[in-house]
Amino acid sequence: MSNKRVYLFHEGNAKMRDLLGGKGANLAEMTNIGLPVPPGFTITTECCNYYSKHGKFPDGLMDDVKAALAAVEKDMGKRLGDPENPLLVSVRSGAKFSMPGMMDTVLNLGLNDQTAEALIRLTGNERFVWDAYRRFVMMFSDIVLSGQYPDLKKEKFEHIFDALKEKVGAKQDTDVDAAGLKDLVGQFKEYFKKVTGQDFPSDPMKQLELAIEAVFKSWNNERAVIYRNREKISHDLGTAVNVQTMVFGNMGDDSGTGVAFTRDPATGENKIYGEFLMNAQGEDVVAGVRTPETIDQLAEHNPEIYQQFVEIAKKLEQHYRDMQDIEFTIEKGRLFILQCRAGKRTPQAHIEIAVDHVNEGLITKEEAVLRVPPEVPGLMLLPALDPDFVKKNKPTVLAKGLNAGPGGAVGKVAIGSAAALRMAEAGDDVILVGRETTPDDLGGMLASRGVLTATGGKTSHAALVARQYGIPTVCGCSALRIDENSRTISADGVVLKEGDYISIDGTNGLVYIGQIPTKMPEVSGKFATFMEWADSFRTMGVRANADTPEHAAEAVELGATGIGLCRTEHMFMGDRVPMVQAMILAEDEAAREEALAKLLPLQREDFVGIFKAMKGYPVTVRLIDPPLHEFLPSLEELLVETTEMRVKGETGPAYEEKMKLLNKVKELHEFNPMLGLRGCRLSIYFPGIVRMQVAAIIGAACEVKKAGLDVHPEIMIPLVGIVTELTHIKEQLEQVAQETMKAEGIEVDYKFGTMIEIPRAALTADEIAQEAAFFSFGTNDLTQMAYGLSRDDAGKFLPLYIEKRIIPVDPTESLDVKGVGRLMQICVEDARKVNPGIKLGICGEHGGDPDSVKFCYKLGLDYVSCSPKRIPVARLAAAQAALEKDGGSTRDK
Ligand code: PEP
Ligand code: MG
Repeated sequence: MSNKRVYLFHEGNAKMRDLLGGKGANLAEMTNIGLPVPPGFTITTECCNYYSKHGKFPDGLMDDVKAALAAVEKDMGKRLGDPENPLLVSVRSGAKFSMPGMMDTVLNLGLNDQTAEALIRLTGNERFVWDAYRRFVMMFSDIVLSGQYPDLKKEKFEHIFDALKEKVGAKQDTDVDAAGLKDLVGQFKEYFKKVTGQDFPSDPMKQLELAIEAVFKSWNNERAVIYRNREKISHDLGTAVNVQTMVFGNMGDDSGTGVAFTRDPATGENKIYGEFLMNAQGEDVVAGVRTPETIDQLAEHNPEIYQQFVEIAKKLEQHYRDMQDIEFTIEKGRLFILQCRAGKRTPQAHIEIAVDHVNEGLITKEEAVLRVPPEVPGLMLLPALDPDFVKKNKPTVLAKGLNAGPGGAVGKVAIGSAAALRMAEAGDDVILVGRETTPDDLGGMLASRGVLTATGGKTSHAALVARQYGIPTVCGCSALRIDENSRTISADGVVLKEGDYISIDGTNGLVYIGQIPTKMPEVSGKFATFMEWADSFRTMGVRANADTPEHAAEAVELGATGIGLCRTEHMFMGDRVPMVQAMILAEDEAAREEALAKLLPLQREDFVGIFKAMKGYPVTVRLIDPPLHEFLPSLEELLVETTEMRVKGETGPAYEEKMKLLNKVKELHEFNPMLGLRGCRLSIYFPGIVRMQVAAIIGAACEVKKAGLDVHPEIMIPLVGIVTELTHIKEQLEQVAQETMKAEGIEVDYKFGTMIEIPRAALTADEIAQEAAFFSFGTNDLTQMAYGLSRDDAGKFLPLYIEKRIIPVDPTESLDVKGVGRLMQICVEDARKVNPGIKLGICGEHGGDPDSVKFCYKLGLDYVSCSPKRIPVARLAAAQAALEKDGGSTRDK
């Protein structure tokens, strides 16, 4: 741990995010470029980490805090706790990566009965002081002590306030006068004593120490942990604590507070976008309790301040060369900047802003490509409500709110997070509907298709989070009434029950009754330009996992330059099942050949369709992989059916057939089918199936070539673990390929290769690579076998592993670099030694995961292959990998 644990704002700078957190580093930077930032200091993230580990502050930390505080006090000419001229401070969290609303903040710290009186004397504004005081008692109790005393939660204090408002006939908080608020402070303190048995802490130094500790603790609160898991932010970073002089937005009608973005965070439009409230404190805006005014209206309240703000906003965007999210406060007609950070934005805004910034000359194309999170292109392709359907059918609009998060979502109304989680768990698509959204709703929001709130602006914390994840969101829908008791929502007299369908359009803020079909957007305009830039830096290929001509065409549309995995299983399904079953049940070779001969033309037709759709790009076709029992009915089903038939006395030929099937299923039954007779083992056992498949592939290729099209089949043999498995099968299949070409009277370019799915294959790549023209890492199986976990069952316990931090991420989603990655690395090195020209790719699910794509780039793979919808994600991740090769990741996560 460094010696220096506390930094005054002017001692830091924007590069010190590790130590000072994003907020602290930016406060330092803004101080240094001369912006009006209230003075303060930052306690380092290292202190938080020390606290998390040892459960106490590092020795002497409070002495350092006191020294820094003394410097701030000198600067301001005020002292914390001074009964004549008191300083008040805010105590805020601020981690390296922004985690909006996930951790805690205490405002107005330093208030007690004496300092309150002093402030009344100094400001002559009694109402403001009691308002600040009542907020402080509530917030401090909630944040610092409600862990220990659940009755100190904010809501409990709000009930007391509500009761008082009712007594004095006040509708809004602002209707309560100074005497009422003073009375409220007394009631709050009495309540505090009743709950804790102690007086509310009046020593400001003690208040400060407890608040710092609470912020440290909040690093590990539940919602912060969920957020970090979701965002793949390391749990070891810790949060810094910023202690900053308070300025007040609630000092009267010449004061106010707000949040603004230098560009519209929903659309990316180059226009300051923000919200503010006059005579209010920060949490009033972000908590979404009062629906704020828009920033343009600030010009009406105070044109000079508006102008000054616009200039500062421009300066900050130019300085940081990115769109900024700025928190500001106006205290008695004077503007202060409290915070700035790179603004969270929707996927659309990410693209719009990146492309505009390049066109404005603010950033380079490389920076634009590096700046957009690789998930964004995937989110851009989320469905929207079908505009043609809406135009034609004119569905009933229930209400209109703010378009906080673009995209269309359809689902059942779920009132509150708990209901949303429960209904989503049961398999329903849900729209989370709430009066307002708070950071505690994160879990419920992530489980929902869309979010709809009655109050709250576009900058409310949860709206930010919703947008970040591409969850279509409509908020501030003021006509909406939610009744939690009757579990209904209503607007303009129309009542819907929980579970009824609604469709929300987060792009224009409309809420419709019923289900509206959704439609995929296209890659066009600035998105297409951006993807072209990404491709210009990309060196690794991106292919698709696609098994049908439709998927293949979609893949090409989305930028794939080949198929990396065409699974052939589905070609045995549907109306072909009887032929497949006849093949499996065949009692002799002749019967089996006859069944296969029926399948051959059908499979050939499938391949013709796929080859044509791929327009000459290479197509890797994987020969049959699953165990045969997957093509037969289940044992349980057959046992029930045959027993019923017996009971009913139906023991004729149909029964005999069923019994035959049952006996075959019993014969094929395996204890561990994933480790059983599948992949190349099946081909060795039943060579007829793969011989037929190769005849179909090569026959189709010949046909397509004869039609004048280019075609490059790559035939992939799965689950090889021993080189001789490969040589054994390949020899027969080569022969089939040659015979087929001879019969067709044309030669085609084809290759044989294998999947690397078994650890032994990776470790004996020096042998296998001599027999294969290509390898494709089947990292689904490779992960399964490297970990010794079943990919079909691991979903039961892996989430627990992540929750308990046994592993940081699910290795079935994101490649385990240390173990599985090591196997891949050995394999790549050994294979290239004996076969320098070998083509290497990956076709497991990891091929569409940005971090895994970047790892594959480092390994030197020729391509990654993933499902069509993830192709733009893989393209961007691969471009970033190429650009990052010297500089490492610049991602803000
Ligand atoms: C793999 O194992 O990674 C793979 C692509 O094959 P499958 O998922 O079909 O087993
Ligand atoms: Mg596999």
